[in-house]
Amino acid sequence: MPAEEATPAIVLRTRDYAESDRIVTVLTRDAGKLGGIAKGAKQSRRRFERKLELFSHVMLYFKRRPHGELVFITRAEAAELTQYELEDDLSKIALGSYTLELADALIREGTDTAEAYRILAGALDALARDGASAALRQAFELAILRWAGYELEFRRCRLCAAAPEPEASGLSFVPARGGIVCRRCRDASHAVGAVALSVRSTLALARLGAIPIASASSAEPAGPDGTLAVARFLASVLDRRLRSLEFLETIL
Ligand SMILES: [Zn+2]
Repeated sequence: MPAEEATPAIVLRTRDYAESDRIVTVLTRDAGKLGGIAKGAKQSRRRFERKLELFSHVMLYFKRRPHGELVFITRAEAAELTQYELEDDLSKIALGSYTLELADALIREGTDTAEAYRILAGALDALARDGASAALRQAFELAILRWAGYELEFRRCRLCAAAPEPEASGLSFVPARGGIVCRRCRDASHAVGAVALSVRSTLALARLGAIPIASASSAEPAGPDGTLAVARFLASVLDRRLRSLEFLETIL
């Protein structure tokens, strides 16, 4: 039998299995994204001091199985990990569910996830502490996209590298270019699916993409045009529409 491993982990997805078992998908700090089965998770308070539910932040003990895709989860403890209190507020649950689902969609198994874990933990911590906001949503989207290799450009035109003037008009976000294009360049190129962006939203997204997640809640958010621009980029790289998105849009 392989040795037991341990790592901090955040539960992204969960479903019940058989009478008392639970199958979970977790984002770990040290072992990547894992799918695992927790035998007796619904009954054993001794081994599962922390329940394995959405948003649970646990020290996870597990063993890899020689041929199984799911690891065998032996214990989950609170250790001294921050717990994210979101139940008191529907908008926290809505944005929290979206962050979990977006992380799950962008992170593949078999990749190093230490930085992605830090981004998600920081976002959930800020959400529990400061509440849901457009700024936090946008900062998380930009950070997790950058981690996944998609660094969106809001500081200068993707084509001519000119920074937008304070009074510039005609700026567009072009999903296929992963950034903004100035009016002059847009007129000279075919910008499919472009989203018109105000200078204010462009500068807000540039700032939100550069600051730590922990301070995002107090930063100025981009307007609905900025939210739409990032959403359109996400739709172009994800292979499915996120179920939590509709809920989030009715709440935020
Ligand atoms: Zn340009």
